[in-house]
Amino acid sequence: MQVTEKMNIADLAKEFELVPGHVYAVLADLGIEHDGVSFDGDEETMELVRAAMTEHIGSKEIALRPNSTPRDVAMALGVSQPDVQKTLMTKMRVMATLTTSLKPDVAEKLVETYGYMARWADAAKPKRAVPVHAKSAGGAQPRPPVVTIMGHVDHGKTSLLDYIRKANVASKEHGGITQHIGAYQVELPEGKITFLDTPGHAAFTAMRARGAQVTDVAVLVVAADDGIMPQTIEAIAHIQNAKVPMIVAVNKIDRPNANAERVLTQLPEHNVIPETFGGQVITAPVSAITGEGVPHLLEMILLQAEVLNLTADPKGTLQGSVIEAKLEKGRGPVATILIQNGTLKTGDAIAVGNTYGRIRSMTNYLGEKMTEAGPSTPVEVLGLEDVPGAGDHIEFAEDERTARGIAGIRASDAHDKSLQAPTRGMTLSQLREKLNTHELKELNLVVKADVQGSVEAVRGMLEKVKNEEVESKIIHSGVGSITEGDILLASAANAIVVGFNVKPEPGASREAERRKVEIRTYKIIYELIEDIEAAVKGMLEPKFEEQYLGTVEVRIRFQFSKKGVIAGCYVTDGKITRNAGCRVTRGKDQVYDGKISTLKHLKDDVREVTMGMECGITFDNWEQFKEGDIVQAYEMVQINA
Ligand code: GDP
Repeated sequence: MQVTEKMNIADLAKEFELVPGHVYAVLADLGIEHDGVSFDGDEETMELVRAAMTEHIGSKEIALRPNSTPRDVAMALGVSQPDVQKTLMTKMRVMATLTTSLKPDVAEKLVETYGYMARWADAAKPKRAVPVHAKSAGGAQPRPPVVTIMGHVDHGKTSLLDYIRKANVASKEHGGITQHIGAYQVELPEGKITFLDTPGHAAFTAMRARGAQVTDVAVLVVAADDGIMPQTIEAIAHIQNAKVPMIVAVNKIDRPNANAERVLTQLPEHNVIPETFGGQVITAPVSAITGEGVPHLLEMILLQAEVLNLTADPKGTLQGSVIEAKLEKGRGPVATILIQNGTLKTGDAIAVGNTYGRIRSMTNYLGEKMTEAGPSTPVEVLGLEDVPGAGDHIEFAEDERTARGIAGIRASDAHDKSLQAPTRGMTLSQLREKLNTHELKELNLVVKADVQGSVEAVRGMLEKVKNEEVESKIIHSGVGSITEGDILLASAANAIVVGFNVKPEPGASREAERRKVEIRTYKIIYELIEDIEAAVKGMLEPKFEEQYLGTVEVRIRFQFSKKGVIAGCYVTDGKITRNAGCRVTRGKDQVYDGKISTLKHLKDDVREVTMGMECGITFDNWEQFKEGDIVQAYEMVQINA
């Protein structure tokens, strides 16, 4: 093959007798961007790719990019697009157009039906630096960060959101009127920021529980005159669990008794290390009333966003999540959607969670009609058939019929799932199952206790509960009864809630019931630890070892017309049991390795026969035994029970 500026992926695949998906995997490993068809590079790049391709021969692994469509998968597999569509519909019962982005598990299964294994390519994280003199192939562009404000009640979350909105959004021409649609955007000379308008972690976690991670940066508000309070700690747990970068806004600095310094010194106790102490967390002193420090906070948010290098492709596959939704008289279902990739236009048909519709109209937070909304833009849409849930994903469809089809399949999938098992939350008995399917290697716990001393004691002991395969991990702990917030956090993190000398609040019990989160309360600390130890053990994959039971000698063959052939035996050592495994040897040769099928003593079926006794044995699927054969019986014993 000639080395050119544009390297053709299909040609390269052919040269190595592989499919384009293999080339994608190699390119992803090398951190080389491509558009599915070709990539840019010079001779040096090509050499590297060829060497890596050679290593890849024989591998089943092909790479797909997140949000791959059937068209992308067909390209990766080197098969025709109708072929892929047919497989989707007939074998997998998935209705999708060529441009629908497939759910990861669907794409993976699709690839498997062709005998390959899908891996998700993450071009953002090259494993090796490569001298590529190529320009970025994708249409990814910087997008505004999406920010959620969290913190303890009365610490000023709403005031801060209001102040930011008034100072930056309600521009003169709109006369200060803004619509509450669940999110708004501010425009600063340095860039835009999208704020989710529902402060507090309930909304944040409820969305996350549905798999929607829309927040890029979390602002933790802590009142300078009050310091860190229980809900501050809860919010920290939520943010850290979601692995979202945090900025701490120390609020109410205008108050005479404000002590911002004290807040900073309290933070490290909760694993939040401010920059001033050599950590990573940006802190900003503000007043939501006077506005002091707010411009600096916004600057810091933009700075953090820059570090995160947030991008989306306005021309790419449409992706978005529902921020909030309700049914309004005269307007029907109204949903605020945050666009995360691509562009939503009026007239578009979309599937949203289990419902669908055609966008009749779109309005922004200023009440202005919009015809298009790009990445990080929140818009209120009309035209859906039903009210979707917060956190539901949206998906573009070619037409309304397809949208209805996608929504229908999602609804029936959701129904199937709800019949099988709760999709969220976790009970102790589900843990083993999760572990067996390799979904879980950590037992996440939310710990609540009556006093700080107990919290510390429980934490200290629980931290020691682990073994080489499974660890217990406390994602949040605190003093006080079990709250709805604890349940939401547990639900989002697949955790179990453990209470010591505390009870769940009524709302929390209801929420736990609904989300199938297990709450375990204890009055004796050792019982608590024992249970968790048992759970961790239960999560261990069972390990079995062969254990010798006994030896039996075949003395005679009994032929029965109905029952087949029975070996008349004598137990020379130990015992033999009905469920035993056995190996039969004749002289030096092993002639059978299997299981006992039936075991009789005289005419009766028995569980076991011990040394010095006679018995009748039939083997599982084997009758070619002879007099003098030696049967070694064993059983498989779980050694880590
Ligand atoms: P939220 O529960 O966190 O949303 O808190 P709010 O925004 O409702 O604020 C609670 C109270 O604190 C209100 O009375 C606010 O006026 C007051 N407040 C909020 N921020 C500040 C501030 O920066 N300075 C002062 N002095 N009061 C504030």
